[in-house]
Amino acid sequence: MINTVRKTFDNILGLLFPPFCVHCEKLLNYRETVPLCPECRELWEEEKHSICKDCFKKVEECECVPPRAKSKIKKSFHLCEYDPTVKSVTASLVLCCKDHNYKFVNKFVADELEATVRAHLKSFKNTVITYVPRSREKVIKTGVDQSLICARELAKRFDIECVGAIKRVGGTEQKSLDFVERLENARFSYRARNDALLTINSRNVILYDDIVTTGASLCACADILKSMGARTIYALCLGRVYRKGKGNGQSDV
Ligand SMILES: [Zn+2]
Ligand SMILES: [Zn+2]
Repeated sequence: MINTVRKTFDNILGLLFPPFCVHCEKLLNYRETVPLCPECRELWEEEKHSICKDCFKKVEECECVPPRAKSKIKKSFHLCEYDPTVKSVTASLVLCCKDHNYKFVNKFVADELEATVRAHLKSFKNTVITYVPRSREKVIKTGVDQSLICARELAKRFDIECVGAIKRVGGTEQKSLDFVERLENARFSYRARNDALLTINSRNVILYDDIVTTGASLCACADILKSMGARTIYALCLGRVYRKGKGNGQSDV
């Protein structure tokens, strides 16, 4: 009964606010569950099947860890590589998740990430998921912490716990900094949450961040998780940034 009411309500909402393609903004059928029109869906599939600029494997097979995080993170998985200065479906999805909390977009991103993780990890025994938290100012401005939303969604699918293990304690936005500055800034930006110590200790941890540019934030957060007693850390991200002529993790932003 409750499900029928909810479905009817969702259908009415769909008619009032029909979904749109996050890339080209074309209106979609109100029952559509994928936030991309057929043409953009095709583009997305192509982006997902690109080649990693570091190991030259297909992105879905790549497990490259950012160079400075190698001693802390065992494997790293990502959906796509992209150049944020170039228009792409990945960039549109990343931006949409950063600025809005659209259920059907979040669900789609989680579906895609779930498939990626399942292709690499066969067991979720003794595993929890956590995320790189967004700055307080950004959360207040947009009302969204996209990585928290996604980590929660993934936790349900893997039937594991989502833990807020790390908190933001300041630091500036990474965007304008070079690599060394980013590393330094990241070290001052995150701290362990004491109430999560017992949950992280001796557990395998999936660390989610929506975008990885140099890996500085991942590095700092992995350090914290290790200090909390995490056993094996896997990094997961939606988009990994590359710039023409530079390998991943070596880019200058
Ligand atoms: Zn489209
Ligand atoms: Zn690779």
